[in-house]
Amino acid sequence: MAVLIFFICVWYLSLFFQSFFQHRYGAHGAFKMSKGWEKVFFIFTYITQGSSYMSPRAYAIMHRLHHAHTDTALDPHSPSFSKNIFTMMWRTRGFYRDIFEGKMVVDAKYMKNLPEWNSFDRMANSTVSRVLWMIAYTAFFVRFAPNAWWYLLLPVIYAMGAFHGAVVNWFAHKYGYINFRLRNTSHNLLFFDFLMLGESYHNNHHKRPSAINFGTRWHEIDPIYPIIRFFAWLRIIKLPKLTPVQEKHPELTPVAKHPELV
Ligand SMILES: [Zn+2]
Ligand SMILES: [Zn+2]
Repeated sequence: MAVLIFFICVWYLSLFFQSFFQHRYGAHGAFKMSKGWEKVFFIFTYITQGSSYMSPRAYAIMHRLHHAHTDTALDPHSPSFSKNIFTMMWRTRGFYRDIFEGKMVVDAKYMKNLPEWNSFDRMANSTVSRVLWMIAYTAFFVRFAPNAWWYLLLPVIYAMGAFHGAVVNWFAHKYGYINFRLRNTSHNLLFFDFLMLGESYHNNHHKRPSAINFGTRWHEIDPIYPIIRFFAWLRIIKLPKLTPVQEKHPELTPVAKHPELV
């Protein structure tokens, strides 16, 4: 039971920080925060993502490339350009590593307003850090797993961030339904996203990348949206200025252009 609770906690907590910090804040600038709060979120992202931590800066650059070049040869992860989910993730890994190590030349328009804490990123992204986290997860399983079958969950925990990325980037570009006709293959994977904290409303997201609510229709509840509102109320983050119509219909917010393409 302890192992199952642990797995569920790692699943949702690491996903929350990926969606809230690396994706919505880092890549899309859906809201603002001070450099001090940014450091706090770097630390929580590291603690919850552990061995699968991704640099918010490198993640943001890579993800902006996905939005700018969706379903083309320049897309870091497109099912249209990979034979299967594993080759797609391997390709994504290459993009991420080259961006992180500064080996990829990226247009300056994708480099604006990035979350930056390079010394922390170097530590958190290091092999030593990843291995130590893996040892810690394994030790927890050795202590609490009732039988060997539970060890099947360990590889998923080791690579949780990549696992989440694979679910959205592969399946939500292949299966599901669409609300908006776009020139890409994005779909809303689930009617009610209890698995990916709103990330699987991917067709909505490609339509309005920097909206603070990924849901559009009544059943598309985005669990992170009220948390964004709550953090804004606490003044941890600052939301973009909304018109009265947008206040009433948060699914329309914000209507500004994709920040990295402005
Ligand atoms: Zn996409
Ligand atoms: Zn996005």
